[in-house]
Amino acid sequence: MIPSSCLERPAQPDTERRLIRVAGVVQGVGYRPFVFGLARSLQLAGNVRNEATGVTIDVQGPPAALDQFTAQLVSSAPPAAVVDRVTVERLVARECAGFSIEASHAGSASASSALVSPDLATCADCLRELRDPIDRRFGYPFINCTNCGPRYTIVTRVPYDRPNTTMCRFEMCAQCQAEYLDPGDRRFHAQPVACPGCGPRLSVSIDAIADALNGGAIVALKGIGGYHLAADAANEAAVRRLRERKRRERRPFALMVRDRAAAGVLVELNDVAAARLLSAARPIVVLSRRGGEVAESVAPGCSELGVMLAYAPLHHLLFDRLSAPLVMTSGNVSAEPIAYEDAEASRRLGEIADLIVTHDRPIQTRVDDSVERLFDGRAYPLRRARGHAPAPVRLPRPVRTPVLAVGGQLKNTICAARGGEAFLSHHVGDLSNLAAFRSFEQAIAHVRDLFSIEPAVVAHDLHPDYLSTTWAHDCGLPTVAVQHHHAHVVSCLVDNGELGPAIGVAFDGLGYGPDGTLWGGEFLVADAHGFVRAGHLAPVPMPGGAAAIRQPWRMAAAHWSNLQADVEPTVAGRHGARWAKVVALAQRGVNAPLTSSVGRLFDAVASLLGVRDDIDYEGQAAIELEQLSERDHRDSYPTELSDGAVLIWSSAAIVREVLSDAARGVPLARIGARFHNTLAEGTAQTCEAIRQRSGLDTVALSGGVFQNVLLLRRTVDALRERGFRVLTHQHVPPNDGGISLGQAVIAAELA
Ligand code: ZN
Ligand code: ZN
Ligand code: FE
Repeated sequence: MIPSSCLERPAQPDTERRLIRVAGVVQGVGYRPFVFGLARSLQLAGNVRNEATGVTIDVQGPPAALDQFTAQLVSSAPPAAVVDRVTVERLVARECAGFSIEASHAGSASASSALVSPDLATCADCLRELRDPIDRRFGYPFINCTNCGPRYTIVTRVPYDRPNTTMCRFEMCAQCQAEYLDPGDRRFHAQPVACPGCGPRLSVSIDAIADALNGGAIVALKGIGGYHLAADAANEAAVRRLRERKRRERRPFALMVRDRAAAGVLVELNDVAAARLLSAARPIVVLSRRGGEVAESVAPGCSELGVMLAYAPLHHLLFDRLSAPLVMTSGNVSAEPIAYEDAEASRRLGEIADLIVTHDRPIQTRVDDSVERLFDGRAYPLRRARGHAPAPVRLPRPVRTPVLAVGGQLKNTICAARGGEAFLSHHVGDLSNLAAFRSFEQAIAHVRDLFSIEPAVVAHDLHPDYLSTTWAHDCGLPTVAVQHHHAHVVSCLVDNGELGPAIGVAFDGLGYGPDGTLWGGEFLVADAHGFVRAGHLAPVPMPGGAAAIRQPWRMAAAHWSNLQADVEPTVAGRHGARWAKVVALAQRGVNAPLTSSVGRLFDAVASLLGVRDDIDYEGQAAIELEQLSERDHRDSYPTELSDGAVLIWSSAAIVREVLSDAARGVPLARIGARFHNTLAEGTAQTCEAIRQRSGLDTVALSGGVFQNVLLLRRTVDALRERGFRVLTHQHVPPNDGGISLGQAVIAAELA
């Protein structure tokens, strides 16, 4: 603490005193040192402190300087800070000299709303020191400062101060302490400050890690939010071995590269793509492949690559010793969550990795890399995790009562909301996995603690068998069941700062419908209070139930038998006697629940075209169909829409045309394009019919099928051509990773 002396005695007559409260992401991002420097430069007196509600500044001086100070609190804030609100109160001036940073006040727990910053990529200043042979942190893999370093992953409770982080076990050396206390230093009050003398250590030297990678080894690397598995991306044997050991058959691996220039060799980079890669979150950005030396097994058959830039000091040090990009995939066996505890990592990763590299700074919260695509010149999130969590989503209207929403089953996230803010957890994953379920419970406890939210109600999916639903029923609080696609649509509305009513289009794999069938091709007229199912894709049987999810050829059989066509498609020949059995299941409706899912229609078409009969991971058939489809072809097949009270869109015409094109030898890329265009056109026509009935001209697009940016592009264009206002996701994913936000808002409106 830097002393300032303020006495309760009258001050100079032209002196004003103001109490300024700054709310937003202002802890752990160098905000207090910034305030300190600003106050000093304007020769103002007083102090600044972290409080549970944000940062509070007691400042005095001439009114003009105070006005400038207040303005610059927003306009000149450090890069990672997000200032939401500045409130100013006048106080009686006192005799005061100097400006200081004071120790934190814990504040009352119930009022705690200080925002913990997401983790921040290594900044340019730290990178310079890291490579400077005369700097005392030269080559130190834990270098950080007020503008960069771990945050959410190390914080154990608020306020964000060193004792409340996993750095509490390291006692600062005299030099680090001096930097930490020196207002002129760029590490002034940087909570994770450390050096080779006093801070965390790596278990293996950088040179040894680099040698192992260069030699084709698979290396488990403890990073910011968990362990990665790394391998030389140019070494086919190494990547194939990683794929085999990880039991991940075809899902593409993400790559990490040294810098923007190295990314530009691998993928097409425009300014938006480069800006996203360089953003402080350093997400994985999925971009069109260009060239470069990448092993075939990295992303077999994919026209796109997921690429991220080095974001931790360890990565930079490694790339100084490596020439090729690295495969950087979550440290797990397929479907398990990323490993983050050291004992657990050596147990789980020991059979995959040739070398395990750990360090002694514990990870409090396991957080995966974030993933995004680009759409309309901006980020389109697929996984919201490191670098984003736990930054809040602003709500269009404050919730009346605190709520907890427990999300879905796959791609689970949880969301706690109070006041005007919703705190979404990082990506938790598939709850049927025990480790993921434990992480789900930890995420609930942590988000509740960090943001002091005592929920009055718990929102869950309508699906009775989701483990999140079961958890909600067992938690002892009042519950609200929210229909899956209603949650999708409201999450998209809220993501755009709106609450509806709007026409909501929710296309996904499956979600439980109130009529007991499985929905997934839905047109809802919805707002936060409720919805009406205005239209949907005609239901078809899902022969074999859940087996049809893993085996798209079963959906091909269902859609084909629905046509009552004579000629069997080629897929029939690939499955022999099983084909006839599955067709019979579909026709008799035995073990064949009905579904209106667009995801399942993608599966059927992919299989009918011979693209994929069985999948290794969720959405694979649709992803492959998107990848092979022509980008510039505009024809489509006709749309068959019934005009009853609920609009029913038949997929029969689509499937018939797909088969007839295939029989005529039309190239797959063209049929794929026509299929996408037809879904877009049919969506626009259905929305048009709903507009005529409802008068609504805003359409919100959500659901996992809209991770497909070719479909999204065509659909948005077709709707805009008809004069619709179209809302798409911006901050939360269209897939089930976004539904906890919709659940929270809906439950809060109903509570
Ligand atoms: Zn830094
Ligand atoms: Zn030190
Ligand atoms: Fe969904």
